[in-house]
Amino acid sequence: MMKDISTILIVDDLRSNIIAITLLFKQCKECNSYRIVTAESGQEALEMTRRHKVDLILLDIMMPQMDGYEVCKHLKANDETKNIPIIFITGHSDDASLEKAYEAGASDYVTKPFRAVELLARVKINLQLYRTINALEHMANYDIMTDIYNRRKFFELAIPMFEECRDDLYAVMLDIDKFKSINDAYGHAVGDMVIKQVAKILKEKTDKEMLLARIGGEEFVLLLYSNSDDEVVTIVESIRKSIEAMEIVVKENQTLHCTISSGIARYTYTMPTIDYLLEKADYALYEAKNSGRNKSIFRV
Ligand code: GH3
Ligand code: MG
Ligand code: MG
Repeated sequence: MMKDISTILIVDDLRSNIIAITLLFKQCKECNSYRIVTAESGQEALEMTRRHKVDLILLDIMMPQMDGYEVCKHLKANDETKNIPIIFITGHSDDASLEKAYEAGASDYVTKPFRAVELLARVKINLQLYRTINALEHMANYDIMTDIYNRRKFFELAIPMFEECRDDLYAVMLDIDKFKSINDAYGHAVGDMVIKQVAKILKEKTDKEMLLARIGGEEFVLLLYSNSDDEVVTIVESIRKSIEAMEIVVKENQTLHCTISSGIARYTYTMPTIDYLLEKADYALYEAKNSGRNKSIFRV
């Protein structure tokens, strides 16, 4: 297995400090698990977090223009960077500075002159915590089998999308056809494989602006904005055709095909909650199922 490499960003307006800390990491026994990047100002630090996947920040407090507290607040206010652990490194050890650092969102605080073992130990433990938090967040938001959003995360993201009340919002319910008979004929493990393959196509065929989730056993939901009914139908039809064309290898010399049916609905101002929009898509899906399956039906 490839070793996990953590990227550590060292921020200090004094080059000599950056060099000293960098050296510390280069000489420690875990040096192979760290990649060091540096910044000499608060602005540059923020820029670095936009360009690199940073796993931990060692942050100086006293810097001209933008100080460490401000950098910290900026990072904590951004969803992309809010979990990155920040360890302040500073010459100030008074209570007020310490309090201010934790209030700004610091994970830890090391005063200069620091002991190398202490700094390295704190880095290590904060990285472990960060990894654990990320893993837990992933488990809470993603469906383990397909690695797309789960039902809970879907509603968390879908409700604000709906509340913007834009009338170009569409919901699509997609359901694998006769899935029970796939399970019955090939077994549950093959059934799982089919769900994974369908999810893979859904991922490939949708983009980041769309909200895709596994909302039930063999049922998926897609929420997207568009200014044309035709465009949405085309997207959903393209998904349907790709799934229909997909050959799933069950075992040597044995393949199977599956199809999906979809119901599409567009937001109207008479819908007070997202449940109405989803229900409408569900009706359309029901119609698709009852009129032969392997089709997409759109109802305003
Ligand atoms: P329809 O075309 O009307 O949708 O028929 P269907 O057989 O797909 O629908 P039905 O709701 O009758 O059956 C869905 C089946 O999906 C029942 C359930 O056991 C199975 N299922 C649900 N989740 C999973 C899963 O994670 N893995 C597997 N293998 N099967 C699942
Ligand atoms: Mg400084
Ligand atoms: Mg089904």
